[in-house]
Amino acid sequence: MRRVVVIIGAGQAGLALSHCLGQAGIDHAVLERGRIGERWRSQSWRSLRLLTPNWLNALPGSPYEGGDPDGFMSKGAFVESLERYAWQWHAPVETNVEVTSVKRTGDGFALRTGAGEWSARAVVVATGHCDRPVIPFSAETLRGPLSIHASQYRSPGELPGGGVLVVGASSSGVQIADELARAGRRVVLSVGKHTRLPRTWRGQDIFFWLCAMGLMAQRREDLANPEGARRQPSLQLAGRPDRADVDLATLQALGVELTGRVRGVGDREIAFAGDLGQHMAAAEAKQARLLGQIDRFTGAATPYRPEPVAMPAACAEQLSLTDGSIRSIIWATGYARSLGWLEPLALGADGELAHQGGVTCLPGLYALGFRFLRKRDSNFIGGVGADAEAIAAEISRHLDCNGRKAA
Ligand SMILES: Cc1cc2nc3c(=O)[nH]c(=O)nc-3n(C[C@H](O)[C@H](O)[C@H](O)COP(=O)(O)OP(=O)(O)OC[C@H]3O[C@@H](n4cnc5c(N)ncnc54)[C@H](O)[C@@H]3O)c2cc1C
Repeated sequence: MRRVVVIIGAGQAGLALSHCLGQAGIDHAVLERGRIGERWRSQSWRSLRLLTPNWLNALPGSPYEGGDPDGFMSKGAFVESLERYAWQWHAPVETNVEVTSVKRTGDGFALRTGAGEWSARAVVVATGHCDRPVIPFSAETLRGPLSIHASQYRSPGELPGGGVLVVGASSSGVQIADELARAGRRVVLSVGKHTRLPRTWRGQDIFFWLCAMGLMAQRREDLANPEGARRQPSLQLAGRPDRADVDLATLQALGVELTGRVRGVGDREIAFAGDLGQHMAAAEAKQARLLGQIDRFTGAATPYRPEPVAMPAACAEQLSLTDGSIRSIIWATGYARSLGWLEPLALGADGELAHQGGVTCLPGLYALGFRFLRKRDSNFIGGVGADAEAIAAEISRHLDCNGRKAA
């Protein structure tokens, strides 16, 4: 099959770009290895709700028009909205087509897929920032408890009975720990570097302030340390209907036992560093800085800060993996990209796609949807639209120079 442009991945990024290319009259196809919004459907827990409010989740050409702008959509509702979006704009999505190789040719790219060969003048990698689950310790050394990544967790009832160790206290880790504790499980939460933020501040959702102050749209080139920013943990937030905070304080109130980072995994036990206090203090300081910035922005006179999280009286230094007290381990330890199928010339030494604002060093090869691609909200639903418009303009310029016919 020949197309002028092939987009790989039909999540929000691939669909947003498809809309922009469609508006510009550029022939293209979106190749998706599963279904539209596959990552949301099959790589997250059942009760997941977006943590961004509805008003913030607009895609190009599709502002939020529902009756609950401040609400938080369930993942099922979000997948439905992606399907509607694709249908509304006639997105040319080919589902169940996995791209297994992309190679440069004389006038574009040759793609090998599970459904035959494709060619295109331009290719866009929109396969997601949260692509390959990362577990920092070899799961093979773990004997006894079930050991899974957060992307494999579904619900408390689908885990073996008994205690659960959740590793990682960013958005996935705290939400999973919260759900398990509410289901009556013993939960130990291993806490590393994290970002604490209140759900609402000065009467508004925290994202209202982050957007109003321009922080969500902050450009990569305006940051002192863009690589450091890309590695920042996700926000400790949840999109609960009651807008409640979910953080280390609320989890302790539910009986969750906090401890430090995982230091080592042996045959018989798992050991933790004694660094919980240090991570909690860093998170408090960071939260205070940001809330201070918001207060200065609003001109609020009364200094007020959320209660600092209390340090637990005791923290486990290790847990036995053989005495049956911990029956499951959930690693909420983040993601990497899995791009081994892509033209090697496009990859940096770290295996990541090398690009400037989504434009790679290979003419005609682009990226979209990755964290801090162009700005802080590049991998957020509401942030991908502006990037998609910019990449569509880059593609249009490339085609003007190289011909608009299919390769
Ligand atoms: C648990 C969780 C909750 C999140 N909550 C929010 C939130 O509330 N608000 C928010 O703004 N952001 C949220 N995010 C961040 C971000 O919005 C999501 O990660 C989102 O899925 C990214 O969209 P995307 O289109 O870039 O990538 P994805 O949704 O990952 O889509 C990529 C698509 O590419 C397909 N694909 C991959 N490889 C291939 C291949 N070789 N061939 C063909 N197809 C391929 C995949 O099947 C997938 O459908 C969350 C992330 C996670 C992990």
